Amino acid sequence: MTQAPLTIAMHEADNVAIVANLGGLPAGTVLACGLVLRDTVPQGHKVALLDLPAGGVVRRYDVPIGYALKDIAAGSWVHERLLQMPQARGLEGLPIATEQRAPQAPLQGYTFEGYRNADGSVGTRNILAITQTVQCVAGVTDFAVQRIKSELLPKYRNVDDVVALEHGYGCGVAIDAPDAVVPIRTLRNISLNPNFGGEVMVVSLGCEKLQPERLLPPGSIPIADQRGAAPDLDVVCLQDDAHVGFMSMVDSIMRQAEEHLRRLDVRRRETVPASELVVGVQCGGSDAFSGVTANPAVGYCSDLLVRAGASVMFSETTEVRDGIAQLTARASTPEVAEAMIREMAWYDAYLQRGSVDRSANTTPGNKKGGLSNIVEKAMGSIVKSGSSTITGVLAPGEKLRQKGLTYAATPASDFICGTLQLAAGMNLHVFTTGRGTPYGLAQVPVIKVATRTDLARRWHDLMDVNAGKIADGTASIEDVGWELFQLMLDVASGRKKTWAEQWKLHNALVLFNPAPVT
Ligand code: CA
Repeated sequence: MTQAPLTIAMHEADNVAIVANLGGLPAGTVLACGLVLRDTVPQGHKVALLDLPAGGVVRRYDVPIGYALKDIAAGSWVHERLLQMPQARGLEGLPIATEQRAPQAPLQGYTFEGYRNADGSVGTRNILAITQTVQCVAGVTDFAVQRIKSELLPKYRNVDDVVALEHGYGCGVAIDAPDAVVPIRTLRNISLNPNFGGEVMVVSLGCEKLQPERLLPPGSIPIADQRGAAPDLDVVCLQDDAHVGFMSMVDSIMRQAEEHLRRLDVRRRETVPASELVVGVQCGGSDAFSGVTANPAVGYCSDLLVRAGASVMFSETTEVRDGIAQLTARASTPEVAEAMIREMAWYDAYLQRGSVDRSANTTPGNKKGGLSNIVEKAMGSIVKSGSSTITGVLAPGEKLRQKGLTYAATPASDFICGTLQLAAGMNLHVFTTGRGTPYGLAQVPVIKVATRTDLARRWHDLMDVNAGKIADGTASIEDVGWELFQLMLDVASGRKKTWAEQWKLHNALVLFNPAPVT
């Protein structure tokens, strides 16, 4: 099917639009507005709608995404080499909680089937997680997990999976450095993710810096059962004198695991309100359509979730840094705005220590997909947060404290962001992609949303939702937002599996460790 020439502008004040047609549009094409293309423009790339003088503002999403480095005639391809990136907005004099919107009408009556935990949280899957204090034990734990899967799991039909929480931390690190709090609390809070049912078991080497009591001090595990007392920390220590030979270590892990499996196996799904969803949203492998189709649909869905009383986290500091003024304006209180500014300032300093700034974020694939720089990418990324008031802020690795829309500060790296949102307690993950990535996590279902129909067609058994329908003109942002919302309830209930779950596509947990290694 040949499509009529189609360009999409995000705001009436914009002086560029992107070409939506598959394969782009050749020079000489006459657009609907009568403008004739002077250059061949690839799909997702920008065309000048007006003559842009050298030094003039190039406007998309009604914000300056750059300044023309030379005169650009209307109908020309506006690519990154023609643009100078705007300076980062300073963190002084920002609008603080100025945009107080009337709360949106509550959305009632939506439910899903989840696993209610003793601490009140709700899981969407029933998984035995095996926590590790240090990378040294990863091979032994993995060996044991393979045997648990083949020999024990078939006996416990209500348990979905057994997952080793492997990571690279635990020793050879400056564990007393102030920033070491980030990886340590991340590991602690992941162990307590609602999908693990409050069952915590630890495999330790023995001589590592991150000792089990440091990872999970007394009182850190909520009471898991009706015994009334906090359970003792269940630790298998490989260097324990009682272990003679490798198989005795494996046997210990399997014996302990079976105790937890027995308790997890009695869990049953029950009907819970949609407000028990804890959704982490992020994007990866972005293109110019991310901010036109998938991210706005996710944003619409975020608003639905907030209206339903659920928790939504958006993250990726380098991708929201350029929109800080929008975000502080949307904060519910001055305290929330100040917390956001504190997180951004911390990250600015962190990047500065490495002699880079937020512009280090964009990738060759982003640019090939039409994103000229981080400002343009950020505007398209922030729309995932929808339009709700921002009521909470988390530092990296912290556990979520409230419902509503929270800014969970994380790097934009897909794996680090996902790992930190897991620590915050997400029970469902939404991931948008334009270039395409097979991203998935073992600990929580990941719903993947394609920005373009072409990607959804080629990756038909990897993408769960096609937001490209919005650019094709066959669905609205609201339609896809609702489709995603309904799919979330089905996936959370275990009625549907995501493609990443189907194929068991599991990326590694990657800890954010801003502290020195030794
Ligand atoms: Ca990302």
